[in-house]
Amino acid sequence: MKIGLVAAETLPLSKSGGLADYVYSLANAFAAAGHHVDVMVPDYAPGGTSNSATGTNAAAPISVNGRQFTVSEESIGEWRALKIGNSELFSRERMYGYDDDPVRFGHFSAAVSALASAGDYDVLHCNDWQTGFVPLLLKQRKSDLPTVFAIHNLEFQGNYSPSLMDEIGIDHSYFFIEGIEFYGNVSAMKAGIVYCDRLVTVSPTYSQEIQTPEYGFRMDGVIRKYAGKLRGILNGIDYRMWNPETDRSIPANYSRDNRSGKAVCKSHTQREFSLPQVRRPLIVSIGRLWRQKGIDLLLDALQDIEEGFQFIILGTGDPDLMRKVQDMASSTPGFRAVLRYDEQLAHRLYAAADVFVMPSRFEPCGLSQMISMRYGTVPVVRRTGGLADTVTQFDPDTATGEGFLFEDENHEQLADAIGEALSIYSSPEIWRSAVINCMTKNFSWDASASKYAELYGEIVRTPKVS
Ligand code: ADP
Repeated sequence: MKIGLVAAETLPLSKSGGLADYVYSLANAFAAAGHHVDVMVPDYAPGGTSNSATGTNAAAPISVNGRQFTVSEESIGEWRALKIGNSELFSRERMYGYDDDPVRFGHFSAAVSALASAGDYDVLHCNDWQTGFVPLLLKQRKSDLPTVFAIHNLEFQGNYSPSLMDEIGIDHSYFFIEGIEFYGNVSAMKAGIVYCDRLVTVSPTYSQEIQTPEYGFRMDGVIRKYAGKLRGILNGIDYRMWNPETDRSIPANYSRDNRSGKAVCKSHTQREFSLPQVRRPLIVSIGRLWRQKGIDLLLDALQDIEEGFQFIILGTGDPDLMRKVQDMASSTPGFRAVLRYDEQLAHRLYAAADVFVMPSRFEPCGLSQMISMRYGTVPVVRRTGGLADTVTQFDPDTATGEGFLFEDENHEQLADAIGEALSIYSSPEIWRSAVINCMTKNFSWDASASKYAELYGEIVRTPKVS
């Protein structure tokens, strides 16, 4: 098949979270299975045009709604990135977080629909609200290219004033309650849900949760209406990038059967962070510092725990939460905070830690808990979304399961789950089973990629390339 993937970010070009990992891994998995893959992303580089240093070549520019977009190609392994450039729209200090984001990504979607409708793709797989208008804009162009729309996070919807329709060339006939109208605005997320041929979320549990008011961010009614085309397909992690046996970013490699390197990683990190080198559990948290991730619950829970532990948090995000984390780090012995995005440090921490905490309020899939298990770091997670689908409760009597789960958005329950993990940590024999169970789990992308290929098969007309 000839597959087009569309997203606001992909590794190795850009990343702010799990979406970039997802696109990169899926593209790799499809290319390895013999499909032709193009990944369409905004070109965030200053100047936004092709750059010979990274091996790019300019393709024909496109003009949509009176705006010019450059298209530069870059080969990444066995697939091709098509970077869509317009420096006024995309070359800014950050990728997101501007008031005009819906306008910026609306233009991106318009450029993608022009490019894709002129191509010979079998299927176009769009991701999150930044690409939500693409299925609609293709229909408006009378293109019959089948589309998949994947929801990675329903909280962010790209809602904006109806003036957006004129800006990016959407016919006003789409502005009605069964169309893209959403509480008086237009919604890119709703457009994707309504006009795609198949709808996906990144875990089976999240696909059920978003049909309820509790997790639906006011979109649950629309999703229930389209539940017939909705599937939940669990993400994997990229085993080439996340592998303690070969990872060059960690001080010592190790495997499930020879884990001595993990102890080296831990003492290296304790030294790096000036933490005492004693046999004390090292708890780590890595992720966006956002209410979604339950960081406030974590800070409260840590104050309730009586057992001794060391704690390192790596993350960036909400300034208020960052301040709270910083304050607690300054006043609590054994508590360290690194408030930035640091890929290399993330690798070292996944390898060094004993326990990984992820108390998310909601979690569409979550990659961090899978990465931590791959590195033999036992997860403590809330039973929600992809966390519920990837972690099973450890039972010391039968030595089955990998982690520790709690049910409600509540710091006491979280403290209990961490306490349970720490008490089992104090019995090294039993703890070893939890670590081995974590490292035995298979989270490779192969199974997920074949589910996507099957899904495409439901809507693809006659594949042009196989
Ligand atoms: P989300 O996509 O909601 O941010 P995921 O768990 O799906 O959460 O993916 C997060 C990815 O981003 C993981 O690969 C994680 O290691 C990485 N990550 C998040 N914050 C940081 C950070 N501050 N430094 C390095 N890596 C980070």
